[in-house]
Amino acid sequence: MASESAEARSSVRMDELVSLCARRGFIFQSGELYGGINGFWDYGPLGVELKNNLKALWWQRVVRERDDVEGIDSAIVTHPRTWEASGHVQHFSDPMVDCRACKKRFRADQLADAGPCPAREGTSEHDFTPPREFNLMLKTFVGASEDAAAVAYLRAETCGSIFTDFKRVREASRQKIPFGIAQIGKAFRNEINPRNFTFRSREFEQAELEFFCHPKSTAEWFEHWKGERIRFHRELGFGEHQLRVIPHTTLAHYANAAVDLEFLFPFGWQEIEGVHDRGTFDLSQHAQFSSKDLSVLDEETRERFVPAVVETSMGVDRTALALLCNAYAEEKLEDGETRTVLRLPASVAPIKIAVLPLSKKLAEPALRIAGELRKSWNTFYDEAGNIGRRYRRQDEAGTPFCVTFDFESEADQQVTVRDRDSMTQQRVPLPGLAAHLRERLAS
Ligand code: ATP
Repeated sequence: MASESAEARSSVRMDELVSLCARRGFIFQSGELYGGINGFWDYGPLGVELKNNLKALWWQRVVRERDDVEGIDSAIVTHPRTWEASGHVQHFSDPMVDCRACKKRFRADQLADAGPCPAREGTSEHDFTPPREFNLMLKTFVGASEDAAAVAYLRAETCGSIFTDFKRVREASRQKIPFGIAQIGKAFRNEINPRNFTFRSREFEQAELEFFCHPKSTAEWFEHWKGERIRFHRELGFGEHQLRVIPHTTLAHYANAAVDLEFLFPFGWQEIEGVHDRGTFDLSQHAQFSSKDLSVLDEETRERFVPAVVETSMGVDRTALALLCNAYAEEKLEDGETRTVLRLPASVAPIKIAVLPLSKKLAEPALRIAGELRKSWNTFYDEAGNIGRRYRRQDEAGTPFCVTFDFESEADQQVTVRDRDSMTQQRVPLPGLAAHLRERLAS
């Protein structure tokens, strides 16, 4: 995988990937039966496994492997004061323009991508209105009445509740500063122009960590978390040519440092994660808006202070899309055929092992093997069609290993293990099969 050049990667065609995703049930338009709903996507049987594996790996690395991070799962509909305190209600907006001719709506800062106007004769130029600010928060009403008092917001980012839950979680977990709170969940933004498949959606998932520390130590923790997050993406297989770190040139007034981790998509370098040193802005704002004391006491120095925050915010869907782009390859085989293969890292591959009896007559022992393997891994059983075609289907799904039970297997108690990437095959004794697969899946 690492031997492919950056040029080869960025030449992955989005339309081919999108079509594979729909055909194989990774990701497809939500409400497609009714023509789809722009900016919303559904993950099918393979997609949900991929996304769950990615989230589980993040949770493992960020929460479970650390003594100093706690997890939460907060409500999506949030108290409106949360977003007043954070500034979202007033400022979370993008400048928007309309074309008077074709009636399409664009982000004023992305007009280079607007393309020609289909509705103006003699010129292909749009007839834009002056820019207006458009708030991206999705609103809803809670309870029976639909007046202003009942307005609530679907969270625009998952971190809002981490700040409002800070005091409760710290007390309940008996954590001392520095420590972090992590959450994975849905976020909603009424994006003006959703595009590039799932890259810019109106409903998406984030995996966020807010790490609370002494205001004097944010620079140190910022470096620490930046390093951790780069390491995570390297583990996903994103090498030097696919992942870069770009510092922000302009910072929010309260922020001390910020970087974007960018992936080279077929549509260019784009952010998949942000790492931010947010200073004491968040807890100070929530303390002010709630009139509650969110400061902490350092028992050794007797100093009382409002903790500062280092944030890491990964887009789960964007990272899943990066994984798919990075994995997708079309290969010319020696026999002249072309195979499509998803070279996903085993840790996130939706199906780890496929068990394929060479003939339906061998179903019984093959099903027994699949049943055994299923106890440890997501295992797929397929007995229909010729073996070459079944291998191709697993290549397209990104399944790292196929186990084939053939007519000799009964007698010699061995099966063939086929490797997705090299397509090499190896005879493996049945008693050692699980150990063999465990070792290869981990490497
Ligand atoms: P962008 O500038 O691309 O709109 P952002 O800087 O507003 O993104 P953040 O608010 O920092 O994004 O959100 C953190 C992460 O959440 C992003 O790095 C991205 O991976 C993800 N994210 C943000 N907006 C969307 C979206 N509309 N669709 C999918 N993922 C998103």
